Amino acid sequence: MDMAMLLAEERRARLAAEKLLEQAQCDLAQIKSQLSAQENLHAAEITKLTSKTRYVEDENRRILADLQSAQSQAGAAERRLWNSLQAATNGFAIFDKSGCLITANDAYFYIFEGLDEIRPGVTYERILQLACEEGIVDTAPLSPDAWQKMMLDRWIADKIPQHTLKMWNGDYIKLIDRRTSTGDIVCLGWKINHLMEQQNELETARQKAEEANQAKSMFLANMSHEIRTPMNGVVGMSELLRDTDLTQDQRLYVDTIKSSAEALLVIINEVLDYSKIEAGKLTLNTECFDFEKLLYDVLTLLNPAARANNVEMLIDYDLFMPARFIGDPVRIRQIVTNLLGNAIKFTAAGHILMRVTGVSLPDNRMELHITVEDTGIGIAEDQIDHIFGKFNQINSSSTRNSGGTGLGLAISKELIEMMDGQIWVESELGKGSCFGFRIRLDQDLDEERDLPRCPANISNALIVEQKAVARSILTRQLQRLGIDVTSCETSAAAVALLQERNFDMIMTADRAPMIYADEITKVAANERRNGHIFLLGTYGEQITNQETLQSISGILLKPVPRRAVLEAIEKIEHNRENSVADRIIARSTGRKMRVLAAEDNKTNRLVLSKMLDDLVMDLKLVENGAEAVRACQDFDPDLIFMDISMPVMDGIEATRQIRASEQGSERHVPICAVTAHAMEEDARQILETGADFFLTKPLRKTDILQIIRSTLPTEARCVLQMNEDTTAA
Ligand code: ADP
Repeated sequence: MDMAMLLAEERRARLAAEKLLEQAQCDLAQIKSQLSAQENLHAAEITKLTSKTRYVEDENRRILADLQSAQSQAGAAERRLWNSLQAATNGFAIFDKSGCLITANDAYFYIFEGLDEIRPGVTYERILQLACEEGIVDTAPLSPDAWQKMMLDRWIADKIPQHTLKMWNGDYIKLIDRRTSTGDIVCLGWKINHLMEQQNELETARQKAEEANQAKSMFLANMSHEIRTPMNGVVGMSELLRDTDLTQDQRLYVDTIKSSAEALLVIINEVLDYSKIEAGKLTLNTECFDFEKLLYDVLTLLNPAARANNVEMLIDYDLFMPARFIGDPVRIRQIVTNLLGNAIKFTAAGHILMRVTGVSLPDNRMELHITVEDTGIGIAEDQIDHIFGKFNQINSSSTRNSGGTGLGLAISKELIEMMDGQIWVESELGKGSCFGFRIRLDQDLDEERDLPRCPANISNALIVEQKAVARSILTRQLQRLGIDVTSCETSAAAVALLQERNFDMIMTADRAPMIYADEITKVAANERRNGHIFLLGTYGEQITNQETLQSISGILLKPVPRRAVLEAIEKIEHNRENSVADRIIARSTGRKMRVLAAEDNKTNRLVLSKMLDDLVMDLKLVENGAEAVRACQDFDPDLIFMDISMPVMDGIEATRQIRASEQGSERHVPICAVTAHAMEEDARQILETGADFFLTKPLRKTDILQIIRSTLPTEARCVLQMNEDTTAA
């Protein structure tokens, strides 16, 4: 190889080596620079980390300081809390889930002073045991064992009920225990001596108030008794005096005495009731009663007052409604009496109509709707809202003249609301008023199912009655039985009808301006096609002549109870003996009814004997219960009027003895208790003893007659003297 080539080669090799070197230097420089960059980076990171570490160290120090401060604060708070709990006079303790004491304050431990066992770790059960064994608690009225059981039962309840302990030293401690979310039980024993003292004082005050209230009720009851007894003499005697020969002036005086005495009685009753309602003492009784009969009884009682004004009183009792219900008949009677009494007071002419309908409710209940409609003075629209208030009377001269306390409607409203009902009124001044009330009563399911059936052989009837409302009620009652009814207002019209066609049944007013029952009866008897005649009579009035009496089938006393209409019809169908109508008809044969009356007060005996003077009966009067019991054997009465308060033996004991003597026999002599107490508790007691009825003094003749009428034995002759002929035999 030539030199040149060698040189060239060498140069190329050198150049290549130089290039390589250059490259290597370049790489080195790059590596160097990279290394230096990395170095810079690490240095920055180190700086950063260093500062972070410093920050964390600072934070740690701060947190530690905070923690220390919090710890010292918590310690202070705990100490404060504990000091407070220690300072408290009330006991405080904490038990764990298993019932072991964790801790308690001094007040808690103080209760068990001297008992080393009572310290953290002791169980609740053991604490209770020790409390009993050491006589720390007064467990009365429970035995210590029963008390411990009761306390443990209480302790395991989810929500532990509060309980008051009586301690050996007379302190009272109320235990308030709470279960926490972790299951611990925190107990607080709160000393409540002060509260207990207050409670005892309140209880004593309540007892005193109750005693005072009872004393007031007793006073009112006694006062009512004391007032009623002499009032019986006043009302009874004035009633008797009125029936004697008097001059016009004397009659006026007697009437004034009687009406004043009766007004006074109403006031006494209302004040008595009102004070009972005020005291929350008025309670309702429940017993089975005949609602329809109750209405007729009230009507019979009030009828004379209405008749004095020539106002007719009527009842329209839905023919298909049951009569027997369960409720408080005394209070329902009071409401009806108030509404009818008001209607009579404020009605100078026209009629008073009581309508009774009912809606069946589930569970054999019935909602009864009773309305009392009058054609009286009415009530102005702006006054209507006031009349149900207490002591509210409308300030008009007619109201003032009619007397009253203004309590009647307020009492009725309260009573109706107690029966889950409502009272309302619709009225137009000068036209009349209609008071209505609704009450819900249970039906008496024992009532024999005697709802009306369609009579088989009565297809048509004639009604002769002058008053339109009475005519329409009777018409409707018969029509509902499927009877075709013709009605007219005069006997002339009736006679014409009777001659024209035949009727299965005739119901005619006895005497009215244009009606003469004698004439109608005679024509009906002549026209032999005509059927049974019933007289629509008025109680106590002289009725028709002997001939007429013999040709009629019965007398229905006005207002005619639904049952009497049905019985009259049944009588035709079955020709039944001894029906109600039969009893009312004068029976001129048979023995006299025997009535025994026991009454210690001489005046009242006189009043009673005079009231019964004109009745055909044997009356025996005795002065006390013992004599009544004896007379019951010797005299064998059909009815006994038994006064309740009597010396030697009172009426309750006598009734008890009479009922005892009847045991095992069929005999049950009706006993009508006579009481001066108006309190229903007495009435209940009397009826429970075995009396069948009771009357409250002052006795009224209509009430007495009503009782006699309903107890007249079938074999006895009528007690009323219809006229000379009928009673002669
Ligand atoms: P009082 O004992 O005065 O009758 P009530 O509470 O029974 O008390 O009646 C309050 C008032 O309501 C009566 O004074 C009378 O003004 C009025 N009132 C009640 N019923 C009737 C009625 N049927 N017709 C007109 N006003 C009546």
